[in-house]
Amino acid sequence: MTEAERAEKIMRFIYALRSHGVTDAGVLRAMERIDRGAFVKGIFADRAYDDTPLPIACGQTISQPSVVALMTEALEVTPRDKVLEVGTGSGYQAAILSLLARRVYTVERHRTLVAEARAVFDKLGLTNIIAMASDGSFGLPEQAPFDRIMVTAAAEDPPGPLMQQLRVGGIMVVPVGQSDHVQSLIKVRRLESGYDYEELRPVRFVPLLEGMARD
Ligand code: SAH
Repeated sequence: MTEAERAEKIMRFIYALRSHGVTDAGVLRAMERIDRGAFVKGIFADRAYDDTPLPIACGQTISQPSVVALMTEALEVTPRDKVLEVGTGSGYQAAILSLLARRVYTVERHRTLVAEARAVFDKLGLTNIIAMASDGSFGLPEQAPFDRIMVTAAAEDPPGPLMQQLRVGGIMVVPVGQSDHVQSLIKVRRLESGYDYEELRPVRFVPLLEGMARD
């Protein structure tokens, strides 16, 4: 791909995000800066700028860019925030978050994906992301509380440990529902006195599974 072709693809990519209702300038800038092509390997690399989920290693998927953008926008990240992402996958979502937050912790149950994502973070010079192999259904108690939590796998209910690890005033975005159905993207705000829930839109994610994977 020539530089001109690449610039054209990125322009169309950002246009597609806008047409999905993404308006936050910071989110659009981050999505323009992070090359999705760096997170997609082999035969699918050509389609990195299409607004579609694509297969990655370990039978998982990199999410659809418009869904990444809308979830990032909903998380209302500020430069002071310590963010937890559950479900590193390719690392693409964590990379976007890293441009908006102070620090991003991202956890994944497939060790292979953690290693691959770390290599891409290094290559892109993203030094404020800490990627760890662990079961994110329990959160990351040693680093809690978090200002923001993003879950990129679907849970039947927002996991209790994640609710507890959210700081008062914090926001969590999580797809909720049975894995073989359309799920609902939920925005949870932790208040002094409890939690407030807002249903954002239907989504479809792989399930949040308990325990580490073998690879
Ligand atoms: N955010 C990713 C896409 C996530 S796909 C990206 O930007 O590419 C969902 C990921 O969640 C998968 O890689 C899956 O292995 C992971 N996952 C599922 N259950 C998990 C759990 N309990 N802990 C950590 N990761 C989990």
